[in-house]
Amino acid sequence: MSAAKIISAILAIVLAALLPTIWPNPYYIHLMVVIGIYAILLLGLDIVVGYVGEVSLGHAALFGIGAYTVGVLNWQFGAHFLLTIPASIAVTALFGAILALPALRVNGPYLAMVTLAFGTIIQILINEMTFVTNGPLGLKIRKPVFFDYHVTGTDYYYIVLVALVATLFVVQRILKSHLGRAFEALHDSPIASDCMGVSVYGYKVYAFVLSAAIAGLAGGLFTYSEEYISPNTYNFELTILFLLAVIMGGRKTRSGSVLGAIIIVMLPNVLSDIELFRKIATGIAVVTVAYSVYALATRQRTLKQVALPVLATIALAVSGYMMDNITDHRLTIFGAMILFVVYYLPNGLMGFLRSIVQKYRPQWIHRHEVILEHGDKHHVWSVPDHPVTARGHLLEARNITMQFGGLKALNEVNLDIAKGSVHGLIGPNGSGKSTMMNVLTGIYKPAAGEIEFNRKHITGATPSSIAGEGIARTFQNVQLFGEMTAIENVLVGLHHTFKHSLIDVVFHTPRCKKEKNAAYLRAASLLQFVGLADLANEEARNLPYGKQRLLEIARALALNPSLLLLDEPAAGLTAPDIKELMAMINKVRGHGITVILIEHHMDVVMSICDKVTVLDFGQKIAEGTPAQVQSDEKVIEAYLGGSAAA
Ligand code: ADP
Ligand code: MG
Repeated sequence: MSAAKIISAILAIVLAALLPTIWPNPYYIHLMVVIGIYAILLLGLDIVVGYVGEVSLGHAALFGIGAYTVGVLNWQFGAHFLLTIPASIAVTALFGAILALPALRVNGPYLAMVTLAFGTIIQILINEMTFVTNGPLGLKIRKPVFFDYHVTGTDYYYIVLVALVATLFVVQRILKSHLGRAFEALHDSPIASDCMGVSVYGYKVYAFVLSAAIAGLAGGLFTYSEEYISPNTYNFELTILFLLAVIMGGRKTRSGSVLGAIIIVMLPNVLSDIELFRKIATGIAVVTVAYSVYALATRQRTLKQVALPVLATIALAVSGYMMDNITDHRLTIFGAMILFVVYYLPNGLMGFLRSIVQKYRPQWIHRHEVILEHGDKHHVWSVPDHPVTARGHLLEARNITMQFGGLKALNEVNLDIAKGSVHGLIGPNGSGKSTMMNVLTGIYKPAAGEIEFNRKHITGATPSSIAGEGIARTFQNVQLFGEMTAIENVLVGLHHTFKHSLIDVVFHTPRCKKEKNAAYLRAASLLQFVGLADLANEEARNLPYGKQRLLEIARALALNPSLLLLDEPAAGLTAPDIKELMAMINKVRGHGITVILIEHHMDVVMSICDKVTVLDFGQKIAEGTPAQVQSDEKVIEAYLGGSAAA
């Protein structure tokens, strides 16, 4: 975190601590407690919605489970705050796992449906299991007591503030660690994540359980704040409200979660007080008009772009003065505000503010400060050697058949890859080369056939476990983690080097620091290896196409593979870049890494491959040294003749 961020966070905490003194109104103190509790929940929800990119409609139910864990433990056993709160975290995490394990096998709308069903079931259970939960009558709980001291509303505000700051701290640490990178990566490209050994399913469940645990904490705190809980609170509307808060506040920011909580708690108040509404609507209109005039004057926006927001905010302010009663129009205004945010501020309010700040930030402040100069030569890591000790085959694929409907993309293909060799795989478009790679890396399960890698059966294994065995790959259609920087992309490939636990992450233990430093050093060296050291802090999506391909190779090498699969690495590269690529492949081979190379540039294939296999219509039509293959009648007819003509 930058110094500016730390200072603003400290200022915000100090201000929050002073609020009850500045504004000693019990009603507002209670509202702020609710804001704090919702903010805690939203910090967790943002892990699932913002980072992993899945919609959960079950978070109100998880919140309810946390609340009821406290309520029931207190009602049935008179358990103390110090016991009930950890219990609500643990119980809700457990329910989160029960929900996530089956639910995260499905995606998108299906996941939304499953979580929605979960929410409904939980609400029914709380209602029906009267002997545990006291059913629809609800439960009464008093604020906690410490050594005969009864906690007051203001005291409780400070308890929630401490919990909020602790949650912020923990969530921030997690999201900036290799775990957070895994969450972001699986969102950007699930297929590449799996192939880098970061199991998409595993980390989705991880994120969901974390998020549930945090919802449990929020729920538990809520029970003591309200002092009464009943099943109807944790309904569908609350779930939607939470999602809106994340979207309005802004995904992937901690401040967005806090802002989102403020909005959803304060909005009903604003929309019930016409005077307050008029002031705020006028304020928004003035700010929008001022910004638009400025943006027009500096030619950053066109008249067409600013017209609608300006008109809409003015209309909102004017309508405030025309109405004499706001309560009838609450839902309309709320709906209009949501539409406005979704259309004009797709990254939420914090995302919008951030984009402005970034525009006017002095050039010398970088977003991700990464120091790449590591003077001490002895510590510079390079691609490790894989000495080819025994001769023989690193990989043997037997009778691989892969069927798509009626089409046999691969028909009983055998492939033997000698240790330490560069093995070419060529053939016309649609002949099954990429399909072969997808079968070898576990993306497709072959209809028939066996694959042995290092004398181990890997047929039917998951992509992430195959990656763990030491097979790394690049993709024909580049699959980078677009929103992450170049070095972060490589760090995802180094995920397997992070052995430390969640506790290490939260407390930044020496072990965590050591592994992190080692990984950054390795990532920096790998970028150097592919000639991208200068672009380490550039977002992957902003790199030129050729550089993206090189970055994919660096990321694949980060896996420390003994077999590297390259799917058309020279596609879209300029002639000098292709030369560099060839030198790089030779260097990789020099380290004892075996390579399978799919390539259309015949000069590349002929000059660096030891052996070449030719596919046509899913069948192997030839195999041998480049010279043998080049003079093969069948190959000339099926492929080389065609490409020579073209
Ligand atoms: P190559 O990489 O050699 O150009 P591919 O392996 O991509 O060829 O494709 C081989 C054949 O399999 C093509 O006819 C292609 O349309 C088909 N194919 C590949 N993947 C799929 C898929 N996921 N679903 C259906 N057909 C596919
Ligand atoms: Mg292909």
